[in-house]
Amino acid sequence: MLLRRFLTIATVLAIAGTPARAQGVNGDSTVALLVDLIRANTSNPPGNERLVAEVLAPRFRALGFDVKIIQTPDTAKAIVVARLKGDGSKRPVLLAAHADVVGVEREKWSVDPFAGVVKDGHVYGRGAVDFKGGMAVFARAVMMLAEQKVPLARDVIFVAEADEESGGPYSTAWLAREHWADLDAEFALNEGGWIMKGDDGRVRYVSISTADKSSVPLTVTALGTSTHSSMPRPDNAIFALSRALAKLSAYEAPLELTPAQRQFLTALSRTSAPPMSEYFRDLVGSDPKRARRADSIISRDPLMHSLIRNTIAPVIIQGGFRNNVIPGSASATINLRLIPGSDLNAFVATLRRVVGDSTVELKTSSAVYTQTAPSSENTDLYRALARAAHTEFPVAEVTPYLFQAGTDAGAWRSRGVPVYGIYPYPIDPDELTRMHGNDEKVSIASLKQGTEMIYRTLVDVAGRR
Ligand SMILES: [Zn+2]
Repeated sequence: MLLRRFLTIATVLAIAGTPARAQGVNGDSTVALLVDLIRANTSNPPGNERLVAEVLAPRFRALGFDVKIIQTPDTAKAIVVARLKGDGSKRPVLLAAHADVVGVEREKWSVDPFAGVVKDGHVYGRGAVDFKGGMAVFARAVMMLAEQKVPLARDVIFVAEADEESGGPYSTAWLAREHWADLDAEFALNEGGWIMKGDDGRVRYVSISTADKSSVPLTVTALGTSTHSSMPRPDNAIFALSRALAKLSAYEAPLELTPAQRQFLTALSRTSAPPMSEYFRDLVGSDPKRARRADSIISRDPLMHSLIRNTIAPVIIQGGFRNNVIPGSASATINLRLIPGSDLNAFVATLRRVVGDSTVELKTSSAVYTQTAPSSENTDLYRALARAAHTEFPVAEVTPYLFQAGTDAGAWRSRGVPVYGIYPYPIDPDELTRMHGNDEKVSIASLKQGTEMIYRTLVDVAGRR
């Protein structure tokens, strides 16, 4: 699925990009660090993020960073915060990377996912893309500031976070609550947007995420009479739940575009071939009829479909416990993904109308839905990253972006600190499919380009002029 959705996006974008051009950056150091990070098996659960702290802390200390290891109540989980001091004339810039990875289906891998295998110009292993590759790039770019003795106007802070992939208790939300002084910054970089290559290997666009969609669980519960299954009644809870889900499956939330998404779609319209260029123009245009037609075509791509509307996806279903009992209730968990600025209560009210059955209850907790404003593009960090992206990939479009999934950015955004998301290496649709999948890999050339781009960004935004 992922492969197809990204191929579609990649192929509608016109020729752009440039060959690798990364003088002055020792990409091998990023590769070597990534190999060590992959070998620290931090599959979550359980996580064991302390292993990553042990890889990073000595390297940062050797370069003169202030290194703090924050021990969580779980002895296997520690967070490393490394700070390179500036002269204090500007507030810090922070780079965040989660240290944990998702687990593997080991038998489906052609290499050991935790060996850090380097072959055919790629580094293989769990986390190569999400997000140990990014961690290696961020960490190396920050280390290079120290190695090159770049005079700094602000502190540069690197954080290796825990519990991003599992929803465990020592996530960045916990870290921000307990140790905000270590995380406070003027702005931050995190995972998020893409440096997307087309089939020809050239970079088509660099999308920098300025907001994430929010994930909210909705519980749909149908009630009926609990009784012997030999005497079925009309109020069967499982049938009622099935009818409700069937109605929801036919419902499509309307088009909803944020300013960042308008810019992203406009960039796609500029670089894609007809007729897609026209559809992207129509989607952001003023004619609702043309926009609807464009939506129906563009939304055949599941990623595009999710980027321009709230989505509903049933993920868990429960009901019944034995063959001869009709259960008194049946329920489903629906994962809602909301565009920033959406009204959760209004959306749930709409879904209730769609279901149209008073015996079926739709419930969500608004406590899990925190509205945070998108990060402004009008900051020194966004401008520095956009400039560095233009320099590294001169013909590619650089655009703000709404990230379709969730990240740790909320810990900062909710406190008014702008966060910009980037997976800092050119990636192709095949490599993207392997993220959270099998034989995850990132190209060595991409790691080198990414390290140069992030280093350039940091010199620009933190260097003393
Ligand atoms: Zn991630």
